[in-house]
Amino acid sequence: MRAVRLVKVGKPLEEADVPIPEIESSDVLIRVAVAGICHSDAHYRAGISKIEHLPLTLGHEVAGRVEQVGSDVTHASAGDRVCVHYLVHCGTCEFCMRGLEQFCHSGQMIGRHRDGGYAEFIKVPGANAFSLPDEIPLDFGAIMMCSSATALHALNKARFKAGESIAIFGFGGLGFSALQLARTFGCEDVYVVEINPAKLASAASMGAIAIDAQSADPIEQIKEASAGRGVDVALELIGSAKTMRQAVLCLGTLGRAALVGLTAESMSIHPYTELINKEAEIIGVSDHLATELPALIELARSGKLRFPPEMLRVVDLDASQINAALDALEDSIDHVRTVIVPSSDK
Ligand SMILES: [Zn+2]
Ligand SMILES: [Zn+2]
Repeated sequence: MRAVRLVKVGKPLEEADVPIPEIESSDVLIRVAVAGICHSDAHYRAGISKIEHLPLTLGHEVAGRVEQVGSDVTHASAGDRVCVHYLVHCGTCEFCMRGLEQFCHSGQMIGRHRDGGYAEFIKVPGANAFSLPDEIPLDFGAIMMCSSATALHALNKARFKAGESIAIFGFGGLGFSALQLARTFGCEDVYVVEINPAKLASAASMGAIAIDAQSADPIEQIKEASAGRGVDVALELIGSAKTMRQAVLCLGTLGRAALVGLTAESMSIHPYTELINKEAEIIGVSDHLATELPALIELARSGKLRFPPEMLRVVDLDASQINAALDALEDSIDHVRTVIVPSSDK
């Protein structure tokens, strides 16, 4: 089969002809219909996030049709539409037993620690293949399993509840999902903090209060718009120390800041006035959980969570097109997600 693989860190991905994976009794073989190109794939290619075993087929955002199932797999059969949970876990270690598989002692991420979906076929454990209802397009079925799932996990980690207000820092794929998900939680006051005019306009058109961080201090703007109270929850989705600090500072009494973006920078906090005094919390968020996915899939099936087709760009399973999309992710600020469609089989 055809696959597009990372062969050398820092170099463009390469096309390869590789064997179709052989499944074991607990696996399913999926014919990839759509694979999302994610910002973290650009980090793997560049060596910002380490890849231990090369060559590797990238791609952790996958939807497709089941081609073949192992003898122990009972919940899926050939021809089923499925989407993939990208964390492969042992199911028996102390964290897996508590339903916290993102900390599994032998956990593997698809498209990082094992071959991913930039290929015609992918092999995954049956437990990682989730049924994808017909109402959800295959392209959204692929990308929602990364950004939307993580946005939902962030809201859950922040213990976000009906009637609370939220500030979302960054309006990319995660922020776009977070805004829609916050609404389904019963939230009316959503502030979106951005510097990109197109993203601010997009947030405003979806009913959010757009906060232009370039025109004035976003903390002052949020405080003013909330009659001095601040927000109950802030999500930092950008990955900069500056916006992480802003996410903490815009909190009101008992507020929770959930940090999702990645950075190696340090952040300073004045413990008494900025945390202790108002019993504010800073919460780290990493990936998401299999147990959260059925609710996510149901929100997408019912149309409460969607991704506009005009914001999707399609490329072939072609190394030069995929490398160009990764280049664009590295330096672009546009508001479009690129997906790979290996064949015309949609
Ligand atoms: Zn992703
Ligand atoms: Zn485990």
